[in-house]
Formats: sequence, structure tokens, C-alpha cells
Amino acid sequence: MPTAYPYARPLYVMAKPAGPLCNLRCQYCYYLEKQHLVNSKFKIQNSKEWGMSSSLLEQFTRDYIQLQQTPDVLFTWHGGEPMLKPLSFYRQAVRLQQYYGRSKRISNSIQTNGLFLTPEWCQFLHDEGWLVGISIDGTQEQHDAYRIDAQGQGTFERVMEGIRMLNEYGVEWNAMATANHHNAQDPIAFYRFFRDELHCKYLQISPVVERIREHSDGRHLAQLFDEDCPIAPFSIRPEEWGHFMCAIFDEWVRHDVGEMFVQLFDATLAGWMGVEPGVCVYAEECGHAAVMEKNGDVYSCDHFVFPQYKLGNIRENGLPQMLYGAKQNRFSRLKKEALPRQCRECQWLKACHGECPRLRFLHTADGEPGLNYLCAGYRIFFQHVAPYMDYMRQELLAGRSASGVMKLF
Ligand code: SF4
Ligand code: SF4
Repeated sequence: MPTAYPYARPLYVMAKPAGPLCNLRCQYCYYLEKQHLVNSKFKIQNSKEWGMSSSLLEQFTRDYIQLQQTPDVLFTWHGGEPMLKPLSFYRQAVRLQQYYGRSKRISNSIQTNGLFLTPEWCQFLHDEGWLVGISIDGTQEQHDAYRIDAQGQGTFERVMEGIRMLNEYGVEWNAMATANHHNAQDPIAFYRFFRDELHCKYLQISPVVERIREHSDGRHLAQLFDEDCPIAPFSIRPEEWGHFMCAIFDEWVRHDVGEMFVQLFDATLAGWMGVEPGVCVYAEECGHAAVMEKNGDVYSCDHFVFPQYKLGNIRENGLPQMLYGAKQNRFSRLKKEALPRQCRECQWLKACHGECPRLRFLHTADGEPGLNYLCAGYRIFFQHVAPYMDYMRQELLAGRSASGVMKLF
């Protein structure tokens, strides 16, 4: 294993110990497409050690820690639903991190739908200082519209019980919401729920956009290069996205700057300041973060778990070779290099950068491919927030807090 690599920057590989498997059946979930292909029930019921094996966990932990050039190492556990793996798996992960990472500061985050949380889990998460990302889509009515279980029942009350337990045990957690065709109709109820009922400090809102393409193997969703596919009914429409985020912004900018952190607003301000936004979707290039499936296959990005984006397998290829190699660098740069002229000449490019390539399936007015589906919404949003962003930028450059903006508008 080499000891020096060309870039001394953190390197992220999100691990999926349970693969795409999940206990829920959220109607917009693209993971379910992949779950269909791995015949999950058979594997869970018939394999002693399904999902990521202990030996793979050990190799991943050792290699991931060894190649980091910075003192901090972040492990991110993702799914499907990562808590389908038992708590003993994560206790082992912590033991391995302690063994292989004696000279490092190690932290962990886990993204979950929250239904498997128990007092035992919460005690563990608290004691080990893990950050938990909880998927929740707003009020009960908004959440239960799409986030249902295998019996078709809403899951809101069970998620809230998980959150109650996290609070009881003092576990740090963030909310991860989607914006979809349903909850987009009431942005104020959505935002106030997170602020006033959940008392969230950090809120990540991801737009749901999928297209329909029926496949002979039972899958229903289109991939990036499929053309002429209708938008799935649960998807947020471009203008809905723009107006939804504008309404939330208006509430935030009057009351909550410096108190509540909404990822898109932070990223937009970063774009205005000319600094890295901290989230790949609004960055100039794709993230230097890959994803590892439960069998050790490593892909360029969690949204591109397709054969042409496979970088290799951790059993056969070193992580640095995969992540700093030509294939991943090309993937990263393509986000910028493939921008259509409309984006390159756009006044909002500094904050948008054409957003995520997975949604670039439109053509521009002059017929060039590669325009982001949500472009019209982003233009509404950036136009609306520009005066506030200008003001906050000036305040920050003058060494003052951006929260002064709340008094002005
Ligand atoms: S494809 Fe999208 S999600 Fe993946 S790294 Fe690029 S911007 Fe991020
Ligand atoms: S707002 Fe639209 S045109 Fe401008 S950079 Fe974003 S996607 Fe491209």
C-alpha cells in the first residue's frame, strides 16, 4: 500500500452495508429499483451473513483509514436502510476503527429512516458520538404521502418515535427531507414543522425527480441516457421547486438566519462568496466521494451505480487507485466540461454550476443537450434571493454576521 498520494484532501467513500435493501417502500425511491434486482428476501432469509461481510468491513476500515492524508476520517453509513445490519456489525466497525485508526480523529454518520431505532441503538449512537441523518418529509400528511412501508401504511408516527428516542438519549441528528410533487404544495407548513415541531438546526432538502421507463425485468425508472421518458408523478416540477424554495427562504431570511441552516441557502451564499459550497450538487465539479456496495464494488457516485461507472472492487483494486485514478477524475471534471452554453453564460453559474449531472436530461432552447431539468426552478430561486445574497456577502466581507439581513427585509 503506498503511503503518499498526490492530493492531501479528505477522501470519502460512503459505505452501504445492506446494499440497496430497505424495510420501506417509499414511492419515489430509486434504490428500490436496485433492490428488485438483488432478490433481497432470499438473501436475508437464507444467508448467515448477508450484506457486507465482517472480512470486507475489516478491509474497508483498514484501507479507508490508511489512505487518508488528513487527521480526520469520516465514515458514512448509507442504504437502502443501513440499520438492517444488526448493531453488532456497527460495534465491530467501531472496534476496527479504534484498532486501525489510533492516530486519527474518527467520526461516523449514518443515514436512516429511523424505524429500527431502539434504546440500545440510541445508547450506542450517543456513546460513540455518531451523527444521525433522519429521512422525514414534513408534516404527517406530507410524509405519509409517499413514505410508506411494505403494507402501504404511512411511517410518520414510527419515525417520530425514533426522533423522540434520539432526543431522549441526546443523540445528535439532522433532518434529510425530499421536496416532491406533494409537499411542494405547502412549503410554509413544511418548513415550520421542521423549525417549530422538530426544532431542527440543519435541514437538507433534496428534490425528487424521476422519469418512467418500463423494463422487462420489472424496473420502472429511467436512467440518465434514456430519452423521451415521462416525468414520474411524484416528481417535483421545475417551477414548483423554485417557488417552494423561495417561500421557505422568505420565512428563513426574516427569522432564522444563523439559527437554522438550510443546505441550499448555505450553498448559494458560498457560491456568492466564491468558496466551495460543501455539497457536490452545487460545486463546479462532481464530488470526490465514491460509494462502496456491500460486495466491495466501488462506484463514482451513489447516483451512478451503473456498470459504466464502476471503479473496481476493493478486494482487487486499491482505494487510492480507484479514487484518484483517471476514470474518477474524468467523472469529476465532466460536470463542468459538459455544461451547455446556456449554463456557461448563465448569470447564476457561480451558485448553480448546472446542478447535478443526473438531472441534465433537457435540451436548451437552441437544441443543445445537457440542461438540468430543474433549471427553470433554479432561475426563479436565484433571481429571488439575489438581493439578500448580495447583502449577506457584503456583511461577511466586512467581517460582520450575515444575520443582519433579518433586520433589513
Ligand atoms: S453526479 Fe451529482 S450527486 Fe454525484 S457527485 Fe456529481 S453532483 Fe454529486
Ligand atoms: S440556472 Fe439553469 S442555466 Fe443557469 S447554471 Fe443553473 S441549470 Fe444552468
